[in-house]
Amino acid sequence: MESAARVFARLSTDEPITNTEVLMGKAVVLGGSMAGMLAARVLSDHAESVVIVERDALPATAAPRPGTPHDGQLHTLMHGGRMQLRRLFPGFEDEAEAGGAIISSPYTIRAYADGVPKVSDGTMGLISSSRPFLESLVRRRTLALPNVKVLTCRARGLEFRAGRVTGVRCGGAGEDEWVEEADFVVDAMGRASKLGDWLEKNGWQRPAMRRMAIDIDYATGYFRRTDADPELAAAIAYRTPTATPPRVASGAITAIEDDRWLITLANYGKQPPIRDVAEFRKLCGELPPVYREAVAGDQLGEILPYHQADSRRRDFHLLTRFPARLISVGDAVASFNPIYGQGMSSATLHASALSEYLRSRPDLDAPARSFFALQRVVVDAAWQISTSADLARPDVTGPYPRGYRLSKWFAEQIADASVTDRSVAVRFNSVTYMRTHPRSLAAPSTLLRALRVNRSQGKPQREKG
Ligand SMILES: Cc1cc2nc3c(=O)[nH]c(=O)nc-3n(C[C@H](O)[C@H](O)[C@H](O)COP(=O)(O)OP(=O)(O)OC[C@H]3O[C@@H](n4cnc5c(N)ncnc54)[C@H](O)[C@@H]3O)c2cc1C
Repeated sequence: MESAARVFARLSTDEPITNTEVLMGKAVVLGGSMAGMLAARVLSDHAESVVIVERDALPATAAPRPGTPHDGQLHTLMHGGRMQLRRLFPGFEDEAEAGGAIISSPYTIRAYADGVPKVSDGTMGLISSSRPFLESLVRRRTLALPNVKVLTCRARGLEFRAGRVTGVRCGGAGEDEWVEEADFVVDAMGRASKLGDWLEKNGWQRPAMRRMAIDIDYATGYFRRTDADPELAAAIAYRTPTATPPRVASGAITAIEDDRWLITLANYGKQPPIRDVAEFRKLCGELPPVYREAVAGDQLGEILPYHQADSRRRDFHLLTRFPARLISVGDAVASFNPIYGQGMSSATLHASALSEYLRSRPDLDAPARSFFALQRVVVDAAWQISTSADLARPDVTGPYPRGYRLSKWFAEQIADASVTDRSVAVRFNSVTYMRTHPRSLAAPSTLLRALRVNRSQGKPQREKG
């Protein structure tokens, strides 16, 4: 059987997509956010027409909207996601940059572990912009395709016949329902997707949901970007877990369009939310100096809080009874602790999995098991990164996977060595930036190098939590 690392490598390629063939009449995508637009882009190669059903009236510009209440929070697009956007939309990065996004090189990203500057990996980069900016560019490129359109209405349920999905029940507020017929349906309704309810109501299995309680609080501020550090595009500073959760477990900065800094402070546990700009600035002052500099300019708007109770995944790949011509993508399948910045890149890789599935010319009248098997590789990879880091916190009490103690020791060796050793940093960051599968770190040469680095240098000097 092909290894997960190999499948991931295939999905995360930036080779142009070729050999596409029209396999269906109309595909319907439920949800017009990041995952929905990316799925629609892929389906445009394989369907005569693609209809995106979105409950929000989608704005013409980069504006926040009610269906994505998290869109004011800091979002960065990891290297792996950036490669997929380039693949799906040639010229995407140039267009993003022309619109004001910052395409960061590894040398304009600073990272700190417990206050210690981490060595640059010299390879990974990000797209830094506000979330509405990135989403609006993906939307513009997708809706420019001649066979893709949006229907503004709420999806209310599915129609089934002879073991397959045949349509989507739609309706606006207070309106009659109608059925939008479909040859293929994609659920991209986000982490609160109702697909499980709809399946169960119609006699199908509901995917089991796995959760890990994380109780994370974000506080996000926008500040005018001054010229103090023109080379800085993004920074991340995190503290290793301690028995008493610190007021700031992690702080992130990105430069975004319109000469602004977007800054997020995150903490765990039942702590009072950070709403006051004076406290926000004071806490930034306790992080590495770039944080103090970033909050020195004028504050723009309020401090925006956000709470997320859990990471969750729905295991579609385990279902034994599932209708044909139906899949689910994005946060509707797996939504992680946002601190690790994996969600949008995961959605791009789900789109890559959909493309591979459809290019394999599957039997569409059978459940899309081979799609879910490909997608599972991406979900497992992201889940492993985020949950193993969260399990190291004393307030997270499981569930612990088999072999947890050994994998924790192993992960600590690699993470510690990545602070000072460029070669380990390249491999470690390639995984955390969703470019390669976590199993790529299991090469004995990587562990041996990490052990040597940690022994020769001692653990990096760390400030107390
Ligand atoms: C605080 C925070 C910070 C984050 N930071 C990052 C980051 O730095 N990097 C990163 O990559 N990811 C980040 N993420 C994750 C990222 O936001 C998500 O992974 C991404 O938005 C997933 O998109 P989606 O399209 O699956 O779902 P969503 O963005 O939730 O979109 C779901 C869409 O479905 C629509 N919808 C829902 N129900 C219906 C219905 N019945 N009918 C019609 N339409 C419907 C909604 O209106 C919405 O448009 C963060 C998340 C949070 C909460």
